[in-house]
Formats: sequence, structure tokens, C-alpha cells
Amino acid sequence: MRVTKSEVSTAEFRIWCEACCIRIAPHEERTIAAGKIYHPRCYSKQPSANGGSKTASPALTITGSVLP
Ligand SMILES: [Zn+2]
Repeated sequence: MRVTKSEVSTAEFRIWCEACCIRIAPHEERTIAAGKIYHPRCYSKQPSANGGSKTASPALTITGSVLP
């Protein structure tokens, strides 16, 4: 078996905010809700963040480089 180059590890951290389309750095906080990733401040501006209580999808805020 051949071991491929470790380029994948850096590619996995290329995350963009669904709201503002700005890249989120690995060390930045990010909020994951319904499978989408936002800046915490951007997620708070989303209409579905606090408005609709029907969709009980808890937002997950992650700090640092720890992935779920
Ligand atoms: Zn954003």
C-alpha cells in the first residue's frame, strides 16, 4: 500500500460561511446548524436562528480546530 501525500488534511479545513460566503479559519468559532456552517454572528442574523420554534434543530457552536 502506498501512502498518499498529506494534502487532504488542509483541504478539510476549507470551510465557508453559508451566510456571507467568507471563509472560516480553522481557529475561528463556527456554528453548525442543519448541516450548514456559519459564523456565530452570521447565524444569529439568520431568520431561522431564533424565529421559528417549529424546527428544533439545535445549533452547534465549535471553537477551535475540534471537529464533530
Ligand atoms: Zn459569515
